[in-house]
Amino acid sequence: MKTIRKITILGSTGSIGDSTLDVIARHPDRFEAFALTANNNVEKMLAQCERFRPRYAVLLNPESATRLTEAVHAARLKTQVLSGIESLEYVASLPEVDAVMAAIVGAAGILPTFAAARTGKLVLLANKETLVMAGGIFMDLVKRNNATLLPIDSEHNAIYQSLPLHFNGNLAASGISRILLTASGGPFRRAPLDTLEQVTPGQACAHPNWSMGQKISVDSATMMNKGLEVIEAHWLFNAPPEKIEVVIHPQSVIHSMVAYVDGSVIAQLGNPDMRTPIAHAMGFPERINSGVSALDMFKVGHLDFEAPDLDRFPCLRLAYRALAAGGNMPAVLNAANEVAVESFLAERMKFTAIPVMIEQVMNAVPQAAMTTLDGVLEADALARHQAREWLAAQS
Ligand code: NAD
Ligand code: MG
Repeated sequence: MKTIRKITILGSTGSIGDSTLDVIARHPDRFEAFALTANNNVEKMLAQCERFRPRYAVLLNPESATRLTEAVHAARLKTQVLSGIESLEYVASLPEVDAVMAAIVGAAGILPTFAAARTGKLVLLANKETLVMAGGIFMDLVKRNNATLLPIDSEHNAIYQSLPLHFNGNLAASGISRILLTASGGPFRRAPLDTLEQVTPGQACAHPNWSMGQKISVDSATMMNKGLEVIEAHWLFNAPPEKIEVVIHPQSVIHSMVAYVDGSVIAQLGNPDMRTPIAHAMGFPERINSGVSALDMFKVGHLDFEAPDLDRFPCLRLAYRALAAGGNMPAVLNAANEVAVESFLAERMKFTAIPVMIEQVMNAVPQAAMTTLDGVLEADALARHQAREWLAAQS
């Protein structure tokens, strides 16, 4: 008999959370949703508790947690409801937990993701912001505590699948010449440049290939998402920036590639559905059904590639700059981007102002080395403060 893997899902009510629960539901003999967590969505969390009967449900927001507690009692469920950031860390680190799906959006995910690594879990990492903010510190923590890290981000999962099985972090020794990170180019790849200023949140969130949360959808439209992913790939695969090449591939069928010195290029292909990388990582090293339909090459027809236009997508340039600068700069970039995206979604800022604000914040915050999680959180807070000052000065 197989042992059942007990999973904590950080961010169960989001897009990745939904896809993870869909995979879990297909394999009741393999996985158990042990703890579910979210920000404040009581109704959706209650529905997930009724269906998956987790041991714990955590809502960050205390008032929402009180409402959920009442609803859970009324529904006669045994789920224990908790609230607050300490409870998110608690359910990520309980000894019964085998794996943690880190799928909170943004910097808010860093503390519980760190807690999972600190307690040696199998960490299924969707929350790329943790690696962007604190890549070196996080990778050390994973190593020191014998945690296992598997990437959920489709590109990084594709790279993982295209690397040699026992890749030890040495690209040259494995005969790898380059990592080719594919990008769809988002909804504005071909839009006339002078129309970008008037882009609405609805247009920015309408991704041509993927259905995702709002923040990552806006990041895809500015291509900051690809910038964050370059930094993510740097830490995951110990790859210097010049060995990570962004390739625009509008069909989103090739999810990324690894080029070898003998001229071979290994790619992972599939329909754009996050259940594939999720099922790959959850079942690893076995292959399990994900519910994703087979790729129909005749329907795909052709695969196109082009180089990214850094004038159209200045956020990508800023991310390369932050990676080259190192230290606190990636955390500063990330924090400024989060404030910019929130402001854009709230219609308090134009789409084209996003990179302008991020660059100003990067210029305003002094460069510093980064060796502790507290230091990272300070850099994050300082950059958010600068970003808000910049916004206030505009109005
Ligand atoms: P989403 O907005 O759909 O869901 C976010 C989840 O996080 C929700 O459950 C929400 O309740 C929770 N949350 C939000 N703020 C929180 C807070 N302050 N404290 C605790 N919980 C909080 O986001 P998503 O699209 O599922 O993305 C999640 C993460 O996965 C992001 O880091 C994103 O970059 C990454 N990712 C997503 C996709 C995708 O296809 N959606 C692909 C690759 C990577
Ligand atoms: Mg991705």
